[in-house]
Amino acid sequence: MMLTAATRLAGVVGRPIAHSLSPVLHNAWLEAAGLDGAYVAFSVAPDRFAAFVDGFRGGSLAGLNVTLPFKAAALAAADRVTDRASAAGAANVLVFGPDGTVSADNTDGEGLLYAFARQAPGFRPDSGPLVLFGAGGAARGAVAAFLAEGCPEVRIVNRTRARAEDLAAAFDARVRVVDPGDAVAALSGAAALVNASSAGLGSDAPPPPDLSAAPSTAVAMDMTYKPLRTPFLEAAAARGLVTVDGLDMLIGQARPAFEAFFGRPPPPGPDVRGLVLCTLGEAP
Ligand code: NDP
Repeated sequence: MMLTAATRLAGVVGRPIAHSLSPVLHNAWLEAAGLDGAYVAFSVAPDRFAAFVDGFRGGSLAGLNVTLPFKAAALAAADRVTDRASAAGAANVLVFGPDGTVSADNTDGEGLLYAFARQAPGFRPDSGPLVLFGAGGAARGAVAAFLAEGCPEVRIVNRTRARAEDLAAAFDARVRVVDPGDAVAALSGAAALVNASSAGLGSDAPPPPDLSAAPSTAVAMDMTYKPLRTPFLEAAAARGLVTVDGLDMLIGQARPAFEAFFGRPPPPGPDVRGLVLCTLGEAP
């Protein structure tokens, strides 16, 4: 790819960032679209994040994707915030205006719904309760997205009850907290089970929840995409449920960001899922 003086630049910021797959996605789309653009990764010290964002005011950078641990700080750094970023309490997209302003958005919920649409076509978020494992930033975005699509009830199961209660308090009475000990009963009648916990996958990781009480019609989704087939998805598949992996969420959250940065939707051509799977060392 030839870079010129007119190259439009965007990137992703986080710490650590070397593992990020966003450059693979965005640069594949840029190349396929024949755009004079480039997408790079930035590692920033936590206490320098606000100064880093301020340095791009004025439009020398089209925009940034934001990942851990900066999603809440990104929201605070912005002059304008979309309703969905506000509802999620976090931003994963910052767009720099030519007038020096910074706008924040959160496309994680859109990415989540994109993943369901791709891998569980016909699933409707308004068809029944969502059982959500985890109560961090990604979980909050999931709640906002499902409620906006008419989900009648969200049951939050989280290790730390206070964090789940904080999340529930940010929404209305449709969102309630369930103790992990009552998780099996909470699966009753669920339409969707989403794992938004970042619990590690090593030998000290907690076992996946018991999904045997889930209705056979429920769809199970895990936001983790490394590995693609997580213990949660294996447990769901063993129960006979339709499963949705986290990789299409990653692609689905990147699509609106690409459009915000480069002024057009991603081109239909490149098999970005296959490209990312190769990067991850997984069979396409
Ligand atoms: P946060 O750090 O904000 O939240 C982490 C959540 O995981 C909390 O609910 C935490 O519980 C729970 N957790 C962590 N360790 C354990 C453990 N050992 N046992 C039980 N629960 C645990 O992370 P995010 O919400 O930002 O991200 C969550 C996951 O989703 C990550 O794996 C992230 O990579 C993934 N993600 C994927 C995306 C995609 O595009 N596919 C997009 C965004 C996120 P507690 O409150 O008790 O600490």
